[in-house]
Amino acid sequence: MKVTVIGAGLGGLAAAIALRQQGIDTQVYEKARGLQPIGAGLSLFPNGLNVLNAILPGLADSLIRVGSQAQRVNLRKSNGDLIAQNQLPLQEQYGQPMLNIRWSQLQETLASVLPPDLIHLNYRCVGFDQTDSGVEVQFENGETAQADVLIGADGIHSIVRQLLVGDGSPRYAGRLSWRAVLQYQHQLLPADEVTIMTSIDGKIFTLIDVGDGQIFWSAGALSERENLHKQATEVKSHVLETFAGWAEPVEAIVTATAAEAIVERPIWDRPPLESWNKGRVTLLGDAAHPMVPSLGQGANTAFEDAWELAQFLAQQPSIEAAFAHYENSRIPRTQVIQARSAFQGSRSYDTDSETFLRGIAEQARASQAEFEEWLYEYGRG
Ligand SMILES: Cc1cc2nc3c(=O)[nH]c(=O)nc-3n(C[C@H](O)[C@H](O)[C@H](O)COP(=O)(O)OP(=O)(O)OC[C@H]3O[C@@H](n4cnc5c(N)ncnc54)[C@H](O)[C@@H]3O)c2cc1C
Repeated sequence: MKVTVIGAGLGGLAAAIALRQQGIDTQVYEKARGLQPIGAGLSLFPNGLNVLNAILPGLADSLIRVGSQAQRVNLRKSNGDLIAQNQLPLQEQYGQPMLNIRWSQLQETLASVLPPDLIHLNYRCVGFDQTDSGVEVQFENGETAQADVLIGADGIHSIVRQLLVGDGSPRYAGRLSWRAVLQYQHQLLPADEVTIMTSIDGKIFTLIDVGDGQIFWSAGALSERENLHKQATEVKSHVLETFAGWAEPVEAIVTATAAEAIVERPIWDRPPLESWNKGRVTLLGDAAHPMVPSLGQGANTAFEDAWELAQFLAQQPSIEAAFAHYENSRIPRTQVIQARSAFQGSRSYDTDSETFLRGIAEQARASQAEFEEWLYEYGRG
């Protein structure tokens, strides 16, 4: 079987590794000229780490060696007052920690286990045609690729999803986000603690150690406008203005950050789909189930998708059967996580709508302890 993956983001790279591990011939096509660390840093949780080890034994362990493990979360007001300190006994409970890591490090680690000639850069997918015998993908540069299966791992603005489902643009969730990683030290930022600072007007500022003396900061604020600033210096000034007067080390760390290192991005999501597949084409990661990032589960669930899809394609007698298993397994789980992310991110879906499977809303409202157990037990060997 030959598989074409569109998108060399975290989901597409994990899918390529998982498919190759199953002996499936896979090629990845990416529109960018180089791998883009689009998010500065991110957090991986036991479900994502366990499944990375299932995809390729030792993969999560190699990430753990370069990232930073959090043992505690400090929740503070914008004036610095401590609201709560929560322990994170994830390692003891689920066999893996909360791992915080630079995006580029994660992306490079995933790419490094693939043969370099498998990732085709500067290939923007613009269309595909499928027949009973195969699928042809067309690229902006005029080239085409033939395969038995096409996986759209091309993110929130997925062209594959548009051609497959045609459900328009993603929904703006009413928030802008800013993220950066820099070399930084501060007594309030021990390596094993995550600090989350919030204010009642919906602003949030998170500070996380990501190893090697580097801090990943991530900020968010409600905003009616979803259009981005044009210049890097405007972005930095806007963040400083938005968080002016916040307790140490917020202003100091933004001031110390190079303007070009700050990633500004609107927060989007989409309502869940009832089906991700048609014929020989399916979706994975944000292309299939984008969610607001309140639980940090977007990449983690993309890794779960990659593992399951590769297993089903290798084990099932036909593509149709593999896709049926993939949908039956992945849609209910990711719907719960999408809905829970939305509730936590003050963004609600219409959970009575037909796109939600029966009982999803109830599951998504389970107690935090029940939900975490269900979420993090996934992929545990
Ligand atoms: C503020 C914020 C914080 C987050 N924090 C976390 C976190 O802590 N933990 C977590 O698990 N998740 C987090 N996420 C979510 C996570 O970033 C995404 O869920 C994850 O990146 C999805 O991976 P993906 O491969 O599906 O899509 P992407 O990472 O978006 O990759 C898609 C790739 O496809 C390429 N592409 C797009 N169109 C085409 C085309 N036409 N042809 C070829 N290539 C194309 C893109 O260039 C890109 O490389 C966060 C998201 C945000 C916005």
